[in-house]
Amino acid sequence: MRDFGNVKRVVVKIGSSSVVTKDLKPNTENILAIISGFKKLKDEGIDCALVSSGAIATGMGELGLNKKPKDMALKQACAAVGQAKLMEAYNRVAELYGIHLGQILISHDDFQVRKRMLVLSETLDAMFKNNIVPIINENDAVSVEEIKVGDNDTLSSLISPMVGADLLVLFSDIDGLYDKNPKIYPDAKMISTVDKIDETILAMVGDTTTNVGTGGMKTKIDAAISATTSGVDMIICNSDRLRDLEEIVKGDEIGTLFIKDDKVFSNRDNWIIFKSNALGNIVADSGLEKALKDKKVSILPKGIKNVNGEFLAGSVINVINADGIVLAKGITNYSSAEIKLVMGADSNKMAEILGFAGKKQIIHANDLVVVGDDYYGRFVK
Ligand code: GLU
Repeated sequence: MRDFGNVKRVVVKIGSSSVVTKDLKPNTENILAIISGFKKLKDEGIDCALVSSGAIATGMGELGLNKKPKDMALKQACAAVGQAKLMEAYNRVAELYGIHLGQILISHDDFQVRKRMLVLSETLDAMFKNNIVPIINENDAVSVEEIKVGDNDTLSSLISPMVGADLLVLFSDIDGLYDKNPKIYPDAKMISTVDKIDETILAMVGDTTTNVGTGGMKTKIDAAISATTSGVDMIICNSDRLRDLEEIVKGDEIGTLFIKDDKVFSNRDNWIIFKSNALGNIVADSGLEKALKDKKVSILPKGIKNVNGEFLAGSVINVINADGIVLAKGITNYSSAEIKLVMGADSNKMAEILGFAGKKQIIHANDLVVVGDDYYGRFVK
């Protein structure tokens, strides 16, 4: 048994292939399994939220399309139709169990702008306090590429720490993480517990990427990194175990458990690294690069060789080296135009060059997360 005695809030993610049947209708049987699982957990005082895919697939079914439309606008129209239909299916079942549901549709912008993220977080909090189960999906009907989270594995890993979840359960079309691709190697073994996502684990993912379903194993491992470094345990398991949701949350050894890190990012660092996209970058000279190898340091104009992109003060930007490798990510005190003017100069010349006296640091150490060679570099966009 896993030690889940303290779990008080759970986020469950279910993929399109489990929410929607082969003939593109809401999968009532699976929806029933989830909602009845939620009912049992709620009766035991455990809050639940669901991240549900399936909007586009359901919309395709409604509109009689059997192939995912290539046309972006039509795909979004499918999502608009399908999302409503899906919620109808969820509500029909939830009413039987006396559960109130609320729909939350999110795009990456809701994370990018910190104020919006806090509003979203308060809404979700109010839903839990008032016994409402959030049913969350990406706002596919209006999300264009630049503001898309992209996949619901990632979305659920961003939401989980935000709502203070203790556990994230990803239901998928695989049983868990295998030491090698089970479709190629019959002797592949499933790993029950991952204490730390290290190079060995990342190598296993490389091996299994080609043969797994929607989102793939890579997005699931990335979700696991983001969840566990944010203080959330995560389980990947097969959606044929949906009926066992209560047992999974109680600690039955089903699927692969990724144990949360003991060294967890602060909320602010978590936001910088996982939830915000960099709007540009500054190029560090070799001295600054060396300093950033070991620890957080404030970025001063002297260590900057170049600026790329256009951004305003307050934006999240990357600090890269001459080869384009991202060394750190942080919130800039100056715009790209201002940095262009002061780069290479001494901090005490800044006021004179800019014509106003601002902060001494381009990025303060407290507003910086060093990524370096660490695997967090995978998330830097
Ligand atoms: N948001 C998409 C949908 O509801 C699915 C994204 C995913 O499966 O990861 O159709």
